[in-house]
Amino acid sequence: MKIAVIGGGAAGIFGAIQAALSNPDADITLFEKSGKLLSKLLISGGGRCNVTNACFDNGLLIQGYPRGNKELRGAFEQFAPADIMNWFQSRGVKLKTEPDGRMFPVTDRSETIADCLISVAEKSGVKIKTNAGISKIIPVENGYKLVFQDGNSNLYDRVLVAAGGGPKLSFFDWLSDCNLEIIPPLPSLFTFNIADKSLHEMAGISVPDALIRVTDTKLLQRGPLLITHWGLSGPAILKLSAWGARDLADKGYQFSITVSWLPDYKEDELRSRISEIRVAENKKQTGTFSPFGFPARLWKWMLLQSEIPDEMRWADVSNKQINKLVINLLQMNMPVTGKSTFKEEFVTAGGVSLKEINLKTMECKKHPGLFFAGEVLNIDGITGGYNFQAAWTTGYIAGINLGL
Ligand SMILES: Cc1cc2nc3c(=O)[nH]c(=O)nc-3n(C[C@H](O)[C@H](O)[C@H](O)COP(=O)(O)OP(=O)(O)OC[C@H]3O[C@@H](n4cnc5c(N)ncnc54)[C@H](O)[C@@H]3O)c2cc1C
Repeated sequence: MKIAVIGGGAAGIFGAIQAALSNPDADITLFEKSGKLLSKLLISGGGRCNVTNACFDNGLLIQGYPRGNKELRGAFEQFAPADIMNWFQSRGVKLKTEPDGRMFPVTDRSETIADCLISVAEKSGVKIKTNAGISKIIPVENGYKLVFQDGNSNLYDRVLVAAGGGPKLSFFDWLSDCNLEIIPPLPSLFTFNIADKSLHEMAGISVPDALIRVTDTKLLQRGPLLITHWGLSGPAILKLSAWGARDLADKGYQFSITVSWLPDYKEDELRSRISEIRVAENKKQTGTFSPFGFPARLWKWMLLQSEIPDEMRWADVSNKQINKLVINLLQMNMPVTGKSTFKEEFVTAGGVSLKEINLKTMECKKHPGLFFAGEVLNIDGITGGYNFQAAWTTGYIAGINLGL
């Protein structure tokens, strides 16, 4: 059996390895259009490669996938974070878990992961061809004709497409002979630009728990929030950008958010609590201590936003000022004026529609023998190792079925 794997990223190499392990007699060639394998993996996670997330409950795991969440449920029953962890550990690559669940090689070097994958692929007999881009896949009787960018072509019995995502719909033009529905690509995982210069002055400050809502939508996320030189970032914002990728693109990335800096408080409770502080601390200046555990600079900014001078004594704070402070603490309105990339990590939402794919095998419903894995599919995850996990899981399933 002649098998071609298109794409030398995480999904393609892992898929090629599984195909070789499940069918050692198959003749498997992996084609990568650039001169280098695994280039994204090598720069991922700040050069450390966030291999997966230590989330061992598949019900929770799927909540990390704005596109593909329901569909991946069954796929994770076949291959989940514990499986990739064991896969690497059994090949001598130990992983460690950081407090937020992200898993990295203990070496903190993405080369450890890349070297392991490439060496297993080579030992399993996968032939690797770099600078070998595919410009067309043409379904023919009993197989597929691949046309290479240099004009040559060749026939294969089975093909795995693991070519990653692209920022434009035209990225998928080379698949046009397969007549598949492509969901137009859009960026996911971005941070929010907010023009207020007084906010930028607090760059670097974070709060562990905030609730952010996008006005006039159902989009909301709760979690750590980070103030940056250009606006807001942190897990809550990144998750919002992923779940809202399409809605926020439709708004041209111009929208409003409300931030609750104290999501556990109800409005009445917070008003009573601040009134108590006003009595108990009446002789103190409002800016001398931060009553809710905020960093001092953030608290003073919050006072400023509420027109309460930080040298004003608590006894002199009016009810009107308290009302304003309560509103700012629980529903601060901020206009968002655009997006920025997150540490150069970006993922595309969109790609080959999952309706085209049998998720039990990753085989294309219209074209038996044609398989898909990784970011080329309309699957994307939040930051934290979810995107690589999708590549391992879909690569694994495609690989074993490719070799059958
Ligand atoms: C800077 C950065 C950091 C990231 N960090 C993380 C992280 O820490 N954790 C995480 O989970 N995710 C991370 N991601 C996302 C993650 O890298 C991707 O989701 C993952 O690489 C997808 O794997 P893939 O194999 O599907 O695609 P890719 O890794 O994109 O690989 C696809 C390959 O196919 C090749 N190709 C494309 N078209 C053709 C063609 N026609 N012919 C032949 N070859 C072709 C490409 O050159 C490429 O090498 C990061 C992304 C970026 C950009």
